[in-house]
Amino acid sequence: MKNKKLKFKKVILKLVDLAGYGFGVEPRYYFYGWSKMKSCFARISVAKRLLLAKKYLPKGYNFKIWDSFRTKATEKLLRISFRKRLENLHPNWNEEKIRKALILFTGPPLLKIRLKLRNHFTGGAVDLTIVDERGKELDMGTDFDDITEKAALNYFEKKKPLKPLEKIAKKNRRLLAKVMKKVGFRPYLAEWWHWSYKR
Ligand SMILES: [Zn+2]
Repeated sequence: MKNKKLKFKKVILKLVDLAGYGFGVEPRYYFYGWSKMKSCFARISVAKRLLLAKKYLPKGYNFKIWDSFRTKATEKLLRISFRKRLENLHPNWNEEKIRKALILFTGPPLLKIRLKLRNHFTGGAVDLTIVDERGKELDMGTDFDDITEKAALNYFEKKKPLKPLEKIAKKNRRLLAKVMKKVGFRPYLAEWWHWSYKR
């Protein structure tokens, strides 16, 4: 048990700045004032896997990272904001419904969170999208941190019929999923932008 902990600590110390790996970074939570980090940091194993995934993107395309390593202080502010947004969006929902949606979009209550290699608190999860050769974000159908059913990775796979723009979003989500899965990232089905890596 002691060894496992030490090993774990060693792993989480190897956080690297994803901007230094040539990815676009737009640290949203810094811009919102929820984080003091002006860039996005992840475990070195995650950064290396992303570099590999980038090779499978069309020429000139890149990833844009919105968030990766996150402190619990940032998470706390995020949850306060998400709760307010959910309450505004669904004024008729009771507390149970709000709490369920909160868990869907932010995970289990903070106190119950365990440090796993796959989550934001160890730099093992990345929130990202794809940008084209001009740095323009591909249309994925929603923005980052959308809190509706449209955020689900497979939303456009199930929806029928699709409008022209939705067909493009479906294609772009497929591209993201293809390159991320190819190098070992695992999706979070409720959020198309969230991918995690266990090593
Ligand atoms: Zn995430």
